[in-house]
Amino acid sequence: MRQLPLPFSSETPKSEPRVATLLHEEPLPDGASLGLAAHLTSLLREPVEVELTDNAWTMVSYRRVQGRLRFRLHHMFARAHESVMRALAGFTGRNRRAHGRVIDEYVREHRELIRQATPRIEAPLSPRGRVHDLADVYAELNARHFHNQVRARIGWGRRAQGGRRRSIKMGVYFHDQKVIRIHPALDDERVPRHFVEMVVFHEMLHQIFPPRIDDEGRRCVHGSEFRAAERSFPGYHRARAWEKAHLHLLLKHRG
Ligand SMILES: [Zn+2]
Repeated sequence: MRQLPLPFSSETPKSEPRVATLLHEEPLPDGASLGLAAHLTSLLREPVEVELTDNAWTMVSYRRVQGRLRFRLHHMFARAHESVMRALAGFTGRNRRAHGRVIDEYVREHRELIRQATPRIEAPLSPRGRVHDLADVYAELNARHFHNQVRARIGWGRRAQGGRRRSIKMGVYFHDQKVIRIHPALDDERVPRHFVEMVVFHEMLHQIFPPRIDDEGRRCVHGSEFRAAERSFPGYHRARAWEKAHLHLLLKHRG
């Protein structure tokens, strides 16, 4: 199955639900999916079926089932214009990169609409930890490195069950909510502030460099621009060195 995951989906942890139920800004006309199917059928000259979904994780996917192309599309595409319809059709062919860009652009334009329609059931964010104050780290970084242009909320992630970990995801950025969460294992006096800063800086960069679709049609989360910006952080090498030497501390951390 070909999929085109889009910025909504960035780095959502596996434990989080990947399907967001969204409200329509207005009811979709009856037969919207049939209309889309007819349109795509005429563009592609082959039978197409369309299912409209509320799945904000994968906005566009398709597969061939018994000689038919079966699309699953986010309902935002019910109102797509001709250029976007052509991109959807073209996405099943060879030049996925260019078509992916058009689709990506359309989703970006409609993202705000969806965000506003999303019911506000937000888990409260607590930036103040026992040791580190994330609001303070964030504000300082935003002023020093981003001209205060990053617009996000930040908080500590929830504590998981205790025990040993094999790996740890230090932070995550949720594009749709503009929320940064930092792993609670970092709220520890043995973890220096400069390391927390680098983790927060990384997550802030995700807003500046949203995921894009690469030449192979894959979603690229940490592109070359992202990596270059990350390495330009003054504390980058120091923080990496600390991580290498002390990762065991974070992995042993209990719930
Ligand atoms: Zn990242």
